[in-house]
Amino acid sequence: MYAEVLIEYPTKKIDKYFTYKVPDVLRSKITRGMKVKIPFGQKEIQGFVINLKDEYQDSFALKEITNIVDDELILNDELMDLGLYIKDKTLCPLISAYQTMLPPSLKISDDQTNYNFYKIYLVLNKEKDDIQNYLQSYKKVNEQSKLLNDLLNNERVLKNDYKPYSIKALKEKGLIKEVKEQEYRIHKNGNINLVKKTLTDEQEIALKEIISACKHEVFLLEGITGSGKTEVYLNAINEVLQKGMTAIMLVPEITLTMQIVNRFYEWFGDKVAIFHSALSKGEKYDEYLKILRGEARVVVGTRSAIFAPLKNIGLIIIDEEHSDTYKQENSPRYNAKDVAIKRGEYHKCPVVLGSATPTLEVRARALKGVYKYLHLTKRVGESMLPTVEIVDMLSEVKKNNFIFSAPLIKKMEQNLQNNLQTILLLNRRGYSTIISCSKCGFTYKCPNCDITLTYHKSTNNLRCHYCGYTIPNSDVCPNCQEDALNYLGLGTEKVEKELKKYFPLARVLRMDQDTTSKKGSHEKLINIFKNHEADILIGTQMISKGLDFPLVTLVGILNADTSLNIPDFRSNEKTFALLYQASGRAGRGDYKGEVIIQTFNPDNYVLKCVQENDFAKFYEYEMNNRRLLKYSPYYYLVSLRIVSSSYEIALENANKVATYLKSNISPTSIILGPTTANLFKFNNTYRFQIVIKYRFDDKLKDALQTLDNIYLNETNVNLEIDIDPEHI
Ligand code: ADP
Ligand code: ZN
Repeated sequence: MYAEVLIEYPTKKIDKYFTYKVPDVLRSKITRGMKVKIPFGQKEIQGFVINLKDEYQDSFALKEITNIVDDELILNDELMDLGLYIKDKTLCPLISAYQTMLPPSLKISDDQTNYNFYKIYLVLNKEKDDIQNYLQSYKKVNEQSKLLNDLLNNERVLKNDYKPYSIKALKEKGLIKEVKEQEYRIHKNGNINLVKKTLTDEQEIALKEIISACKHEVFLLEGITGSGKTEVYLNAINEVLQKGMTAIMLVPEITLTMQIVNRFYEWFGDKVAIFHSALSKGEKYDEYLKILRGEARVVVGTRSAIFAPLKNIGLIIIDEEHSDTYKQENSPRYNAKDVAIKRGEYHKCPVVLGSATPTLEVRARALKGVYKYLHLTKRVGESMLPTVEIVDMLSEVKKNNFIFSAPLIKKMEQNLQNNLQTILLLNRRGYSTIISCSKCGFTYKCPNCDITLTYHKSTNNLRCHYCGYTIPNSDVCPNCQEDALNYLGLGTEKVEKELKKYFPLARVLRMDQDTTSKKGSHEKLINIFKNHEADILIGTQMISKGLDFPLVTLVGILNADTSLNIPDFRSNEKTFALLYQASGRAGRGDYKGEVIIQTFNPDNYVLKCVQENDFAKFYEYEMNNRRLLKYSPYYYLVSLRIVSSSYEIALENANKVATYLKSNISPTSIILGPTTANLFKFNNTYRFQIVIKYRFDDKLKDALQTLDNIYLNETNVNLEIDIDPEHI
């Protein structure tokens, strides 16, 4: 028997297969999709078995597979084929697709072989009567007698709870022995007292539609904030489990959605496996194993959880479908939504895309009937959508109100008096605190990326938010030595400080990258706020999603404009989603919610739509823009980035690529550029960009493939191809 093994080529991202003999001892165990050890040159490396065959010419020259790394962990046939789909869709090497699909412990670049986690217990090695007799003759009261007594009352005890010396003595007397048991690092029990909510009529209809789909079908579940989408997901998954099938639900970012994950544990207990980047390698290994062993049947996780090796999938849900975290920004540049639909086709099961603010692409397909459109139009219970007030900051600034407008201060004061809570959102996309010299105009810039450094007060240093470059702050301008440095812009720290001037007694929490970098700190902050141990929560976009606090009646959006000004075709869509989702945090309980949006563009149409809580109106407006400007969903997009550490080489190749495209793709397709990319200088490389817009182009795929192959062999310039880019 012979095995074709796919390896990761040391220097280049290309696929290499080598054939090996399968030794007799492994024959009965080896299957396609296993990770194996193989001799390679002078070394031993790992690879995936892609194919097994009985015959091979020139077999005498072949080496043998050394061993199977873990015979429980196998990429099944569906996932092996899914790798081929991702290779084809994103133009990545097959090996990169597989490496992306697997948890770290299974990647072939990882050599640790055993991730199993064991606990060691002590148990009796003799009958209880014998032990009792022994104790009577032993007479002494010490740790040894205590341990034996404990074992008379308990079937087993943890070895770690006792002193090694006592254990050794009792083992030598043959009275006790050790047993080793594998344990999962994460344990959760369901809530046996769980009270299921009675669904509203709208929820009931949506649920019926989803669970009665017995073939592959894609649904858009559009539901305004607070309409109870999560409840629909839980009930639908419950039905699927009852039928003996399994389910996946993707969430944008788990730390932000811990409230939802906890609901899953309440409903399904240890049938749930979770995946997200904050888990340790060992935890990921365990969760993966639970799935392969059929113990976990519901998977909740971020993007890569879409590759969970579940069998017999009955439902795939993508919550907050509009989130850009579903697209991977480096190779393989796949979108988890595409993979979900591919897996849905394979398992002939429904795929539900849920959001209050779906992407234009998905909503357009739903309105055309390509996807099934489900709509939750009402908030659950009595809670009403918040009223939204737009405040013109130009007139506020004239009154010296730079950060907080007068109406916002007034409302916050009322809220504090009434013992209610407030959330303040600082929209940080493309905005930051910078330092500049008022004498010479100097600003700090990153030497690697050519962008302005951001000032961090708590550590008193300046940092590049792209590459992490950090320098200490200084009192005088490094350029002209004058004491004239000014702090511009608005950071969460500054907001917090200013807020204390207005409300010295208010209990203020700040949630941003700095205060949530430690594991578990995010959850801790959320709990403090939830328990009403704080009055005001200040945060960046991370607070806009998924949080459900009944006492929050006021949401203030401090600087609504910043993301509108980002040069990207999705900036309106992203701004609407952010502001609408943030507003949706207000008035979820028994009190009416209010939202204040501070802006320098009070007449902006996107903000008006947010004010009216009218997604449909925004959709019409933005679809028209996209049609006029020829962007998706009217045109498909491909973005190509040409990257080099030399400016000249990058530019020269960008022109070459554009010329090649002009003569090799359909004349009806539009080629924009080359232009400098949005982030032109990054980590000491220069980046040019070409964007292709097309509707039908049967020559495009071949052209891209050819270009990709050409540039694989280049060493001083890279070509990055992004099909259906999230940003350009
Ligand atoms: P969405 O995700 O659509 O914004 P959620 O799923 O967070 O909404 O639901 C909003 C709130 O309403 C939550 O507190 C949830 O527990 C509650 N809820 C949802 N459905 C019902 C129902 N049928 N009856 C009572 N409360 C519900
Ligand atoms: Zn940098």
